[in-house]
Amino acid sequence: MHKVYHVGGETQHVLNGVDLTIPAGQFTAIMGSSGSGKSTLLNLLSGLDIPTSGTIAVGGRTLDAMSSDELAAFRAKTIGLVFQSYYLVPTLNAMENVALPGVFVGMPKEDRDARALALLTRLGLADRVGHRINELSGGQRQRVAIARALFNDPPLIMADEPTGALDEENGRRVVGWLRSLAVKQGKTVVMVTHEEKLTRYVDRVIHLTDGRIVSDQLVSHTRSAGIPLDSANAPAARPSRPNSSIRQQ
Ligand code: ADP
Ligand code: MG
Repeated sequence: MHKVYHVGGETQHVLNGVDLTIPAGQFTAIMGSSGSGKSTLLNLLSGLDIPTSGTIAVGGRTLDAMSSDELAAFRAKTIGLVFQSYYLVPTLNAMENVALPGVFVGMPKEDRDARALALLTRLGLADRVGHRINELSGGQRQRVAIARALFNDPPLIMADEPTGALDEENGRRVVGWLRSLAVKQGKTVVMVTHEEKLTRYVDRVIHLTDGRIVSDQLVSHTRSAGIPLDSANAPAARPSRPNSSIRQQ
């Protein structure tokens, strides 16, 4: 697929023939320098934007063939997205922000609050649930955004530099959790990151340069063996995954 933007009479080719298949259950990192098209790619994969040419299918459904209502419903159920700039609702507190996806699917308030509290506790924010967004640090906001993305238990998680504002400890904890969601629950996770050391948590690393895939490598399992899957669980054996469906041009 290609993505072209037109800004003030100028044409910008942001994605130039990206051809990519991500199997279910894979944890993929997308890397590349600033401006290489990582966020654009993630926004397209999550149905927030449409490609200029080419097509995107998620779980067998072609995104551009859906009506906007269908797409909204599909996205709410299927995709948890952590935006690079969070897009939290400033007038709501941390718990209300996290529980928002539950409002859209009609979950009772009691259940919403319980789930939001559990997620925030898991991310070390139990004592911040009643804080408004502007009363939280950057790293705390980022964790609220992550909790919100996970609220509906989506099979597909897309995270745009989810550790950008986190200290090392919290960053490792978050990525370890994403890894455990992929390994133990079969979630498909696509994470944009700048941090080379986080690639040992993932199955696959894709590098973008000027909107092109310049490398696409599977991470060997031995290299990532021994990393705690998350803070609450011991490392578990990782099932091998067929990668015959991975292709790249
Ligand atoms: P990355 O996330 O890799 O830093 P982005 O995908 O955000 O890069 O942006 C890639 C390029 O596309 C940049 O040059 C940026 O200025 C441009 N771009 C991104 N979004 C838009 C937009 N909505 N309109 C015009 N240009 C855009
Ligand atoms: Mg970006």
